[in-house]
Amino acid sequence: MQTQPQHINNLPKKWANLPFIRGMYKCDEPLDAYTTFRIGGPAEVLVEPQDLDDFCAFLRGKPQDVGLTIIGDGSNILIRDGGISGVVIHLGKGCDSVSVEGNKIRAEAGASTGKVARAAREAELTNLEWICGIPGSIGGALVMNAGCYGWEMVDVLEEITLIDPQGTQHVVAPQDVAPRYRGTTIPDGWYYGGCVFRLEAGDKDEIRERMREVNTKRRLSQPLELPNAGSLFKNPDGHKAWQLIEKSGCRGLRKGDAQVSEKHCNFFVNRGKATAADMEDLAEDVRAKVLTATGITLEWEVRRLGERTKSW
Ligand SMILES: Cc1cc2nc3c(=O)[nH]c(=O)nc-3n(C[C@H](O)[C@H](O)[C@H](O)COP(=O)(O)OP(=O)(O)OC[C@H]3O[C@@H](n4cnc5c(N)ncnc54)[C@H](O)[C@@H]3O)c2cc1C
Repeated sequence: MQTQPQHINNLPKKWANLPFIRGMYKCDEPLDAYTTFRIGGPAEVLVEPQDLDDFCAFLRGKPQDVGLTIIGDGSNILIRDGGISGVVIHLGKGCDSVSVEGNKIRAEAGASTGKVARAAREAELTNLEWICGIPGSIGGALVMNAGCYGWEMVDVLEEITLIDPQGTQHVVAPQDVAPRYRGTTIPDGWYYGGCVFRLEAGDKDEIRERMREVNTKRRLSQPLELPNAGSLFKNPDGHKAWQLIEKSGCRGLRKGDAQVSEKHCNFFVNRGKATAADMEDLAEDVRAKVLTATGITLEWEVRRLGERTKSW
């Protein structure tokens, strides 16, 4: 019989019924460092599974009434200042294997997009160069059907692995998750475990050059020198969100340390000590101004998680 590891003893009694895992439990863990905005309150309990089997074992063993929120590399989320109650799962190291099988690449949800792009380059496989400019994990990229420069995840996927609420893995076709512009749909309580990319043979030097071009283009057009979460709003049909924001006079608009970037109006930046409330309120002001000036309602691309005030 397995004994509870030492670290679970640090959790309040309320959580004594969480299952044994090989990974880590952390209590009241600040989440700002888990996001590219560098903003956010704590997780009531943070779970970092040692690998995907450990995550599945956690799902099988956890009491049904425990609320779960999952995060990847935090490049498309705004975690509110009151943090996230219940359990937050962070899939990172240990859930990040990447392997090459002929012209296919198998990647787990916690692998970074950069790691996958480099593996494709080293294996002389093309069509994934664009992904090196999108920070984040493969899990997050699958959720968002991330994309740029005319490509999106669904274009290069062979299959996807989903994990159900009982921790059982299912291999499905990309179309089964209804991919669309910046979104997919899976049932509540299901998670992305990974995927297989289907690529084509390419020339390593040309692949390297295209990756360099992608990164240069981004450095020139995006405020990468300040914490941000990429495009805050989705592009409405037939429009560019940044143009609507500019037209509405919001370039450079500021609330506390939260600011609409001067360099790219659809990027909101944290100039130092921005709170999530500053960022969310600024974004809502911008949405209102855009609606008044153009009649168009912007839709958030960045996902907001947690509560404004701490509830535990
Ligand atoms: C500088 C910059 C540039 C960017 N450029 C682009 C771009 O060109 N194109 C683009 O599409 N995006 C872009 N983004 C946004 C972001 O990088 C992508 O959306 C990325 O795919 C998010 O991955 P993540 O791991 O950071 O997800 P997170 O931000 O951690 O999570 C995003 C959502 O996915 C959920 N989630 C995460 N992992 C899982 C999982 N395994 N199973 C189920 N749900 C999960 C979370 O709960 C959350 O709702 C940019 C961001 C930045 C900071």
